[in-house]
Amino acid sequence: MLGHGPGVELVAVALVALVAGAAVAGLGTELEVDDGPDGEQLGRGLAAGVAGPLEAQQLPDGSGHAPESTRRHRGGRRRENPPVALVSTTAFVLKVDPLSERDLVTALLTKDHGVVRAAVKGARGRSRRAAALQTLNEVAATYFRREGADLARLDAAEVLRTSYELAGTPAAMLLPYLAESALTFVPESEPGTEVYRLVRHVLDALLSGVEPGLAARYFEVWLLRLSGVLPEEERCATCGEPIGPGEARMDPRSPGICHAGCAGGAGLFVGEDARRLLRAIRRSPLPALGAPEPGALSTVEAVAREARRRFLGHELRSYRLLGLLG
Ligand SMILES: [Zn+2]
Repeated sequence: MLGHGPGVELVAVALVALVAGAAVAGLGTELEVDDGPDGEQLGRGLAAGVAGPLEAQQLPDGSGHAPESTRRHRGGRRRENPPVALVSTTAFVLKVDPLSERDLVTALLTKDHGVVRAAVKGARGRSRRAAALQTLNEVAATYFRREGADLARLDAAEVLRTSYELAGTPAAMLLPYLAESALTFVPESEPGTEVYRLVRHVLDALLSGVEPGLAARYFEVWLLRLSGVLPEEERCATCGEPIGPGEARMDPRSPGICHAGCAGGAGLFVGEDARRLLRAIRRSPLPALGAPEPGALSTVEAVAREARRRFLGHELRSYRLLGLLG
């Protein structure tokens, strides 16, 4: 299910640079800033810098002086700031928190640019942008990001698909877990495109009525695989030979599944039914999986939990809550 789909992504990226407080395009064309309220806001954002508190400290008077490192790298162009990228992409909302009295900060899983954290200026309270930023809403997002800055600045977020479609169903309880998992395992500034498509695939399957427990296992097995945390189930992680039928265990020392003998008799028991389910998850789209064998689902959950805990050193908060609710 993770093969390349036919979708075409509209991504507009413009590099702009700030020179002496004025916005000038870096590629020979001027950045268009309209005169409406949004345009004013954009202009203010550019003038103040979109880079968040760290760079604000470097530019206490907003005069636009470039930091030392930039001056050093750019020779004679002493008053130029690092370039700012304008990005339009689709994204899933993973998290929203207060940033200040008036501002929010959000974490987005973008389709092409991995996890992006962005300040949302003036959005606290009943703003349209705050309403758009519900967990796992899929949005058309436009943000500005200064090279090297921790925080981007979200300029627009229009809802494309709302996660509210799942409200009132048992699947709604899964949403915080899916979001926290993606936020934890997709490294910032790495593409994360497969995880983006995985989230869409799992949400679509939930909407079509796939059982939430099976959807959760499918999601976590794929997420851990894509993150390199969960190896395949067909070869022994210790000796490298095929596991074949018979007893297998989760290797207590390395993140893999291995022959019971290679595991020294220790570690979580992983039965053939659970390995069949792991294989089916790897090969099938979620709606085609069918009902898993009894017991296989809970073993696969235990395998994923063990792999995740070993990698992170702790458990995800949303997973613990899911256990309390379930
Ligand atoms: Zn072995």
